[in-house]
Amino acid sequence: MLAALFLTWFQVGEPCAACSTAGKEVRVCAPHAEEERKVFASAGRSLSSRDSAERIAGLEELARLTFTHVNAPSKRLAERLASALDDDSLKVRKRAAELLGPPQNAVVAMGALLGAFKASEGERDKVQKRQQRLVERQRGPQSPDGKKLKELKLEEGECARQLEALVGWRSVLLGQLVRFPDERVVDAILKEPRGFDFGGNEALAQLGTQRAWTGVVASIGAWEQELIGWESMLRNMEGAVSGYSKDLQDAFLGVFREQVEKVRAAGAAHLPELARLAREHQLGPTPERNERRHEEWERWLANNRAAMLEKLPGVNSPVW
Ligand SMILES: [Zn+2]
Repeated sequence: MLAALFLTWFQVGEPCAACSTAGKEVRVCAPHAEEERKVFASAGRSLSSRDSAERIAGLEELARLTFTHVNAPSKRLAERLASALDDDSLKVRKRAAELLGPPQNAVVAMGALLGAFKASEGERDKVQKRQQRLVERQRGPQSPDGKKLKELKLEEGECARQLEALVGWRSVLLGQLVRFPDERVVDAILKEPRGFDFGGNEALAQLGTQRAWTGVVASIGAWEQELIGWESMLRNMEGAVSGYSKDLQDAFLGVFREQVEKVRAAGAAHLPELARLAREHQLGPTPERNERRHEEWERWLANNRAAMLEKLPGVNSPVW
């Protein structure tokens, strides 16, 4: 019900005859500028509150102003919303990202979301490297004593939690970024790792250009190679331990079986959605069997390339 109301409200968001936009320049009329000034002052308290719910309320209060002059979305207002993209609270960040969609200043919103995406990827990379180091230290040549091992494990657990939060934040950003038909969004996603679990492939498929789909098909290739690699390691290992007791075999093979299952599950979770997005873009049928089909996906790409946009139009105006 609320969502429906919000939607109608957005659709009826009104232009103002006295506000105007020329190119990237927005001129907000005097009454709307005055209203903005007042709300900035009144929302200021909530925006600097220590309570995250109040900060969210402050952002929402600001965001509402644009609905009365959607033809001239204020730059300053979008910048204020964008400054909450690095709020300490993930909830506030998420709400800010959501608000940076229509009808807010599209140029400012896209730039800010791209900046937040880059920053969060930098952070993820850092945490992932730290986690890797912690794993290596646990297995290292000078095996740590019980107490040290416990500390390392705790720290590794903390990294895992941070990574989970960062991947969640990344998916919120991607969900919002796909609304901007601009090659800079495609570039930003192509630059970062695109294992299926990171969600970037669905975003690329939604953007739908030739370069975007080429990236998706490359990800499918990398996934297939990973699966082949783990399967072959599992087979080799099975050969090497075939003379052992069942329990010992299970102990040796467990890790490899788990990896094979994990990679397969990632494919099962993401390939059908990519196929659905291809249908949604009215592209030809994608390869049906999910495994060992990278070559077919390559053929599919070649056959459908002409039906894909070469370039997105680009976000050049603040108005949606
Ligand atoms: Zn106005």
